[in-house]
Amino acid sequence: MRLTGIRSAEAFTSLRNSLTGYIREQVMNLTPQDRMNLERARKVGEQLGLVLNPDLERALKVANGLAHNFAEYGKYYCPCKQSHPLNPEKDVVCPCPTLMEEIARDGHCHCRLYFHPANVQADPGQKLQRNET
Ligand code: SF4
Repeated sequence: MRLTGIRSAEAFTSLRNSLTGYIREQVMNLTPQDRMNLERARKVGEQLGLVLNPDLERALKVANGLAHNFAEYGKYYCPCKQSHPLNPEKDVVCPCPTLMEEIARDGHCHCRLYFHPANVQADPGQKLQRNET
């Protein structure tokens, strides 16, 4: 079920906060490095008014890709848009310049790391539980 028709800033904030709390609970079973990578990505998204993908497996894959690029190349190059091999002159760093365009157009960024709060499933627990089995 997609949430539509939520127009007030308070409703968005409330939804965003509850999802963030839910994701926080789920990350307790992850490795410390996974948790750190996800938490970093969450904080970046929060500053932009966005939430992480409630599909934790997907969010973690991208967050770990970003962390890997930071460790290897010194910047959080987008793992989904990068060249192979990575081209520091051309490749974009997260959050990328087209992020908000993608959010406005698709409700999520190209990598599906960040979502607009109105474009996440009403019950993220369903997806997370499926991922845990
Ligand atoms: S698409 Fe943009 S915002 Fe999303 S993970 Fe890649 S660089 Fe970050």
